[in-house]
Amino acid sequence: MTSGWRAPVRPVALLGVAVLLAVGLASVLALVPPAPVPADAPEGAFSAERAIRHLDRIAEAPRPPGSAAHAEARDHLVERLRSWGLATEVQQDVGLTDRGAPGTQRLAAVANVVGTLPGSAPTGTVLLAAHYDTVAGSPGAGDDGVGVATVLETARALSAVDRRNDVVVLLTDGEEDGLLGAEAFVRTRAGAPGTTVVLNHEARGVTGPPVTFRMTSPNDGLLDALSSAPGVLVDSGSEAVFEALPNDSDFRHFDAAGMHGYDTALVAGGAYYHSPLDDLEHLDAGSLQQMGRASLALARDLADRDLTSLPDGGEDLVTALPSGLLRYPASWEVPLAAGTVAVAVAPVVVARRRRALTLPRTALAAGAAAVVVVVAGLAGYALWQAALAIDPGQASAVVGEPYRPVPYQVAVLLAALAVALAVLGPLRRRLGPDALATGSAVLLAACGVLLAVALPGTSMTLVLPTLAASLGALVAAVLPARWRGIPVVAGLVPAAVLLAPAVWTGFDVGLGVGGPASAALLAVLLLLALPVADAAWPARPGVPRRRLLLPPGLALVLAVSLTASGLVLNREGATPPRQESLRYALDADTGEGRWISLRPPSSRWSRTLLPDGPEPLRQAMPWTDGDRIAHGPAAGTDLPGPDLEVLGDRTGDGVRELTLRLSSRRAAPGLGLWVAAGGATVREAVVAGRRVPVHGPSGPWDFGFQFTGAAPDGVVVRLAVDPGGRPLTVRIADRSDDLTDAPRLDPPAGRVLVTPQVFVSRAVAL
Ligand SMILES: [Zn+2]
Repeated sequence: MTSGWRAPVRPVALLGVAVLLAVGLASVLALVPPAPVPADAPEGAFSAERAIRHLDRIAEAPRPPGSAAHAEARDHLVERLRSWGLATEVQQDVGLTDRGAPGTQRLAAVANVVGTLPGSAPTGTVLLAAHYDTVAGSPGAGDDGVGVATVLETARALSAVDRRNDVVVLLTDGEEDGLLGAEAFVRTRAGAPGTTVVLNHEARGVTGPPVTFRMTSPNDGLLDALSSAPGVLVDSGSEAVFEALPNDSDFRHFDAAGMHGYDTALVAGGAYYHSPLDDLEHLDAGSLQQMGRASLALARDLADRDLTSLPDGGEDLVTALPSGLLRYPASWEVPLAAGTVAVAVAPVVVARRRRALTLPRTALAAGAAAVVVVVAGLAGYALWQAALAIDPGQASAVVGEPYRPVPYQVAVLLAALAVALAVLGPLRRRLGPDALATGSAVLLAACGVLLAVALPGTSMTLVLPTLAASLGALVAAVLPARWRGIPVVAGLVPAAVLLAPAVWTGFDVGLGVGGPASAALLAVLLLLALPVADAAWPARPGVPRRRLLLPPGLALVLAVSLTASGLVLNREGATPPRQESLRYALDADTGEGRWISLRPPSSRWSRTLLPDGPEPLRQAMPWTDGDRIAHGPAAGTDLPGPDLEVLGDRTGDGVRELTLRLSSRRAAPGLGLWVAAGGATVREAVVAGRRVPVHGPSGPWDFGFQFTGAAPDGVVVRLAVDPGGRPLTVRIADRSDDLTDAPRLDPPAGRVLVTPQVFVSRAVAL
C-alpha cells in the first residue's frame, strides 16, 4: 500500500498547522468582549459605565415582586425614562402563562414599565425589552440587570436623535414567576397595527459574549438589520440547543403574539445565576458593553428601516464569523449536506483507483471516527463528573457550574485530544493515513446529513468545515506534492474559523452539557485536520507500538493534572462563597416544619439538614408539581397559615359556585390554592379577574394555581365545581421570599443561601 498520495510536504504541513492554530486562536479571541466605554463618551455612543450606574441603583438587593426593592427599582426606571422624554406609564395587570397541561398554573399581579418615543413617520415599532424582577435572594445584576441597563442606555441614546419608527421600552415584571409581565403586555397589545420588532435581553450568566440565540421566522429581514451591528454572536444551531435546556424567556410570548425579533443573552459564568452572587462585583462590564453596543446599532438601524417589509423574505441559516455574518437559505441545508457527502466520497474513489486505500479499511476508519467523537464526548463528561464526585460542593446550586471552570475546560479538551490520539495513532498504521482521513470525512459528512434532517439548523457548523476540508483534499489530489499544502490548509481554514469558537463557546452553557459538546467538537476538528497532521508528523515505520501510547498518555496525564488543579482552585474558601439551597416548609395544621431543597444536598452541612428523599412532596409542597425534593425535619414555628374567606357559595343546575378570598396573614407575596382530586371537580376558575384554563388532575390535585404579588387583602378566587355529592377539600399556601420567618439557620462561614423561601400551607374543607 502506498500512502500520502495527497499529502503536502512536511515543512508546508508544519507551517499549515501553525497557520490553522493562529486562525483558530484569533477566531476565539474575536469573541472576547470589548473594554467598557467610559461615562464621558459622546452622547450618541453606548457606554457600559453609564449603563452600570442604573444597576448601582436597582441591583443592590434582590427585587422579587412584592418586595420594597422591587418597587424602588420600578420607580427609578420610570423616573429615568421620563427624564429622557419618553411617555412612560406603569402597566398594572394580571399576567398568566397557561402551562397547557395539568399542574399548577402561574399568575401574578405585574407592573410593567412602558416608555414610548414616537417616530416621525412610523412604519412600525421597535420594542426594547428586558425584565426587572429577580428571583428571591438574588440581586440580579446579570439576570436581568444587564438587560435593563442595555435597554436604558440604548433608549437614552435613541431619545437624543430623530427616528422614523416608534421606539417602545418595555421593562417587564414577573418574568421569573413564569413570563407573566410579557404575557400581560402582549395581551393588551393584541391587534395593535403595524409591525413590531422586539430586541429581548436576558442573562443566564454574568460574562462572555452575548449570544443572539433565537429569532422569529422568517429571519431574512432581521438578519439584514443584524448585520449592521458589531460583535454579534448568532448561530442557527443555538436555538435547537436552547430548546434542550430548561430555560425560557419573555421572548416566547412576543413570538407567539406575532412580533418579530431577537432574543439575546449572556450565557457564560452560569455559576452566579440566580444566586446572591449575581451582583455588580461579578458582572462583566465588557459583556454589557458588547450587548449594548450591538443593541444600540441594531435599534438605530431598525428605527429608520421600513419595518413593513421585515416579515417578508425567506429563512436563512446563519453563523457569525469574525468578519461578519455568514448566511444562506435554509432550503440549502439538506442539499448542501448531501453534496458534502458526495465531495467527501470523491477522494475515496480517486484513492481507491490509486490503490492508496481499500473500501473495508475506509469503512473501518469511518467507524473509528465515530468512536473518537463519541468517546471524546464521554471523556469530557466523565472528567467533570469525577471532579464533582470528589467535591460536589463546588457546583453552583442552580446550574451546577463551578466558579472557576477554565482548568476543567482545558482538561476536557485534553481528554478529547487523548482519546483522538489513542484511537487514531495505532489505526494510522493499520489502516493507512488515506483511509483514515477520507473515512473520517465521509463519516462527518454523513453526520451532517443526519443533523440537517433530524435537527434542522444545526448542521452548518459541521457541514461547512467538512465540505471545505474535503474540497481542499480533492484539489490536493491532482497537484504535485509541493503544491498540495495550499489547498489542504486553505480547506481547513473554515474548520478553524467555525469550530474553534464553537469549541470555546460550547462551554458557556456549563460543563455538564457544554463539556461533552465541546469535547466532541474538538474531536471533529482533529478528524478534519488529519491530512495536515499526518504530513506534519509522519508515521515512522518500526516505532514500537508502546511508543504510540506516549502522546495520548501525556495528554491524559495533563488532563488529570488540570482536573486536580481545578479541584484546588475551586476548593472551599478559595472561591466566592459556596451555594446552599434550602427552603422552609411548614404545615400549619400539624405545626410540622421541614427543610427542603430541589437540589440534592452537596455539603456535609446540608446533608445533615436534608437526610430524606429526594421524592415528591405533593402535600407539603404542591407548588412543585411532583418534582423530587430532598428534605429533612425542622423545628415547627407558630407562623399563621394563609386565610381563606368564603365570600359567596351557591349551588344551581348541579354546579356549585364559590367566591373566595385567599390572603396571607403574614403578608407573604406568594399565594397558592390546590383543589384535592377525587372530590368535587373544578369546571371553571377565575383568579383576580382572569379565567385560568383547567386541564384536569395532576397527582393528588384536580386543579391548582399560584399567584405572586397579591395586595395585602389577598386575591379573589371564583371556582365553579361539579360537587358530584363529594366533599370539596383544598390546600392553601403562602410563600415569602426570604428566610426571615424560618427557624434560625447557621450555615458554615462563607456559604450563601440560594432562592431562600418559606412556604406555609394548610388544608381547608369547603
Ligand atoms: Zn432572566
